[in-house]
Amino acid sequence: MVEPNSKAKSDSEWQAILSKEQFRILRKKGTEAAGTGEYDKFYEEGVYTCAACDTPLYKSTTKFKSGCGWPAFFDAIPGAVSRHEDRAFGMVRTEITCTACGGHLGHVFKGEGFATPTDERHCVNSISLNFRDEKVEETPDESKTSKPEAPRRRLSQILSGLFK
Ligand SMILES: [Zn+2]
Repeated sequence: MVEPNSKAKSDSEWQAILSKEQFRILRKKGTEAAGTGEYDKFYEEGVYTCAACDTPLYKSTTKFKSGCGWPAFFDAIPGAVSRHEDRAFGMVRTEITCTACGGHLGHVFKGEGFATPTDERHCVNSISLNFRDEKVEETPDESKTSKPEAPRRRLSQILSGLFK
């Protein structure tokens, strides 16, 4: 379980660790330009970690093509991502941050009609993420997001029907 703010640091400490652009987005809640991110059109198997504190945030099994210009995930690793109401720019949006360090990741949008198990889109800045190339294990948590297997006997019933 991820302890909230267990990897928090002061702005000056972050400034020393992060690049200027990472600091602008992760600490000052900026947004990278659409379509420019390293992981926008990237679909390898692995785990996405927080670029600031290295906490695992998303698995490649929850990443999907949204066409919006930023990496999109339909679910986060349980507890790794926190949600906050964001009223900037005259809109009410849901901001998402890394639970461990408070780093800004992006926003989550609901009910857009994407064919995903949650109908949510975690719209995440590539610069807030690092990719770790590793085998993604199926956990019981993911059983709700995987498709139920079609009963095997149905095919044999169809086949036996055909040859009667
Ligand atoms: Zn973090």
